[in-house]
This record gives sequence, C-alpha cells and structure tokens, in this order.
Amino acid sequence: MKNFVLGGMGLIALTACNAQQSAPQLPNIIYVFPDQLRNAAMEYWSQDEFRPYVNFQGDPTHTPRLNEFARQSVVLSSCFSNNPVSSPHRGSLFTGMYSNKSGVPNNCQSFRPTCSLPDSATCVSDVLYEAGYDCAYIGKLHLFCPTPNDPQHPGQYVESRVPAWDAYTEPHQRHHFDFWYSYGTFDVHKNPHYWDSEGNRHDPHEYSPKHEADKAIEYMRNEGGKLRDSSKPFFMMISMNPPHSPYQSTKDCMEEDYNLYKDTPLDSLLVRPNVDFSMDKTKSAPYYFANVTGVDREFGRILDALKELGLDKNTIVIFTSDHGETMCSQGVKDPKNSPYAESVNVPFMIRYPDHLKPRVDNLMLSTPDIYPTLLGLVGLKHMIPGHLHGRDLSDIFFNPETTTVERPESALYFQNSDGRKGEDGLFYDFYPNARGLKTDRYTIAFYLDKKTGKLRESLFFDDVEDPYQQRNIPLDEKPEVVKELCQKLGQELKRIDDRWYQDKLLPELITY
Ligand code: CA
Repeated sequence: MKNFVLGGMGLIALTACNAQQSAPQLPNIIYVFPDQLRNAAMEYWSQDEFRPYVNFQGDPTHTPRLNEFARQSVVLSSCFSNNPVSSPHRGSLFTGMYSNKSGVPNNCQSFRPTCSLPDSATCVSDVLYEAGYDCAYIGKLHLFCPTPNDPQHPGQYVESRVPAWDAYTEPHQRHHFDFWYSYGTFDVHKNPHYWDSEGNRHDPHEYSPKHEADKAIEYMRNEGGKLRDSSKPFFMMISMNPPHSPYQSTKDCMEEDYNLYKDTPLDSLLVRPNVDFSMDKTKSAPYYFANVTGVDREFGRILDALKELGLDKNTIVIFTSDHGETMCSQGVKDPKNSPYAESVNVPFMIRYPDHLKPRVDNLMLSTPDIYPTLLGLVGLKHMIPGHLHGRDLSDIFFNPETTTVERPESALYFQNSDGRKGEDGLFYDFYPNARGLKTDRYTIAFYLDKKTGKLRESLFFDDVEDPYQQRNIPLDEKPEVVKELCQKLGQELKRIDDRWYQDKLLPELITY
C-alpha cells in the first residue's frame, strides 16, 4: 500500500474570497471527532477508488457526506489511536504527549483524582490562542476528574452516580477555549446536556450530534459578532458522542438512520471474519451503524454551512475519532483499549483547499503528532513547543515525497490500569499494564502480570498475511522479527521516558 493520487481530482481553482477573508489570514480549523468510530465504518473503503488502499473489507455503512469529503481530502488509511480510550486519547490530542506524560493515563473518573488534564499543560488551544485564534469547544470532553463543582448545586457532583464521570469544566480549566459548550461524559444520545461559557446548563432534548452541529453553525455564523471576533481565525473542536454506546434501540439513534440497516441480517452487517456471533452484542450492529450515519449527516450540515458562509476555502477541516469499536470482533467485550485493528485504527481526513492535494496516504499518524502537525499546517512551526512527544508531519501532508521529515515507521500502543490505592480508597497512580508497537506489517503487544511485573500475555500478528488478526503468533516462531520490533519499542519507550524504560521492564525481550 503506497501513496496514490486519486484520479481526476485536481486542486480546486482559487475563487474570490469574501470580504472577511480578503486580508491574508491564518486558516480556520474545524476538528470533528465523534467517539468510538472505527476506520472500517467509513463507506468509502468499499468504493472502487479507495478499496485498493486497505486490506480489510469495509463495513456496509451509509456515509454519503464523508464519501464526498474523502474525495476532497488527504485520507489516511493507517491513523493510529495509541491509547485507545476516551480520556487518554484526548489528553494526548490536547498536550501532544503520550499518556504516560499527558497527565491523563486513564479514563477520568471521580476515584482517580490525579488523572486530569493539568492547568499547567500547554495545550494546542493555548498556542493557537497565542497566535491570534478564537477557540471553541463543543461536545464531549471527558478530560477532567469530576469534582463536586456542579454550578447549579455547589458542593455536589453534576451526576448522582458514583463513581462520577460527568463534569462541569471551570473557566480556568478551559485552556483558552473561550467559546464553551460542553460536558464531561454522559451517554444518553437523545437527551444530552451541556454547560455554556457562562456555566449555564442546557438540556435540549434532541439528538446530540444534531444539536452540536447547530451550535457549530451558530458559532460560524456569529450573528451580531457575539460569539467570536470575526477579524480573527477560529479553531473549533466538535466531539460528538455517538457512535459510542449505548446502541441498544432506536432510543439511542435516529429512526431514519436505523431504517437503513434494520432489514439487513446481522451476518451481512458484521462482515469481518473475526466476529464472534455467539455474542449478544451482535444485535447492537444496526444501531451502531445508524449512529455512524447520523454523525455523517450532521458533519455534512457543518460543511454546508461553511460553504454557504464562504469560509470553506480558508478553513482546514479534519474528521477523525478518538478510537475504534470492536463490535464483537475478536470475541472481546471491551470495544476499545486493545491493540486490535478495530480498536486502534481510526478515520482521519483532512481538507485544505488549494493547499492539500486529495489522496490516500498510509502515513502512520499517532495521536500526539496531531497537535504539532496542525501548527505546521497553519504556518506556525515556530510556535511548536520543544517538549512535545509528537512530531510535526505537516510537510508530508503538503508533499508526500518530502524528505524534510521522516515518515514514522511505527506507532506505540499503551494500556494503563489503576496503580497505587490511597487510604481513602482512591487511586493516585497508574499501572503501565501493556505496551506495544504497530508497524506497517506487524502488531505486537506485551501485557504485564501486575503482581510479578513479568510477561502475562503477548499478542503478535502479521497484519499483512492476517489482516483480521486471527492467529496470535508464538514469540519463538519469529525470533528475529520479535527482536527487531522489541529494539524499536525500547527506543521509543526511552525517547518518551516511559515507566517501562525507567524500570527496564521485560528486559529479556525489550532492548532499552
Ligand atoms: Ca471514547
């Protein structure tokens, strides 16, 4: 799988900019990332122009707007979510650091008081603000330890469940996202709630992606100049919760979307040969895919508004996800968190008219790379903080043949669990449960026994010979390959000063 230019799609001719855009200005950025959307669920992978670039069969979804958008974008086939869970992903996305140093090694919950985005972090929004951007955040955040800071009920959590997941984000925690319309985490797709910039709660009683698209359009329109400074470029992140669970019934998705899938037998919806059809969860497939289509439609509405406002030419639009969804593949209950392709491989499309030539690229983009790459794309390389784990790969987006930056040959995989328990029963540390590496050919991951620190389990797949990862190769079957992968893994763990490097874990395997 190499990089190809899609046939018949030249650059869009430069047309007259509107008055607002006539002065040279940094491009706007719209970053849309629904939750738990696997790469295989993009319908375009089943279409002739795209099918040759992947070695899996695409899911039988309906994503007409994303199909059209893909033809205008650089589409990555191998974008990798390194720590494929909500909060660790977002921590890396915001800080440009892997989850060992981002401050967010696990999912944020009330029993993990120190697992929370630090106020002191220099986030991508802080840098863009400094460069003159207005920043907006809409939708799911899940990046702070929920604390009893409900603005309507001081001293209480914003939800009654314990451990608490949902959180109100105080102004000092917002990292220069001055337009705020967000919540921590709350999984009721048709009855969401949000807190706005002033801390007022909103319960719109409608499908959350639709409501979030409406808010995004309102922000772009900026009637009366109330929501942003129109003389500045804007950076808007929109995190839609679907197609994250729940996906049990039409209570969890729009009926019009469910109708597209309801008559298809389950074994025609779940087409991957590694699906365990004995799992009851297979019944969720039509509702999961319905939410993929719902997200597609609402993303399309954002694109329509952008065009109508004449802002599309000078706006970078990215569509991706925080991690994937196994949906009964591999017989695992956990939809994410594993190194399986369904969990780690996410969509990534980026459109920047007149600057990026539409194509499919097998660039192995890791989560911490996104922040510096975004700064590179908008011409702010000089503002990329020196301490980041992530690398600026923008030159590759501009020119796939560039020699100014090396193409990543691998991506790190992380899984953390709870570490030290305090006397109060809360967890103040994380345990670095598993580490692994993905290359263009192999996936390898090692799991520790928490008591002994020794190897508990390994997963090792030849992703070229075995694209659905159905055969876990014994490590002694390919010792030379394992040695090479472990050398690279050791180098990377050293580069990011990971706990595995500090403690020299699994020294019989990993060369540090
Ligand atoms: Ca998530």
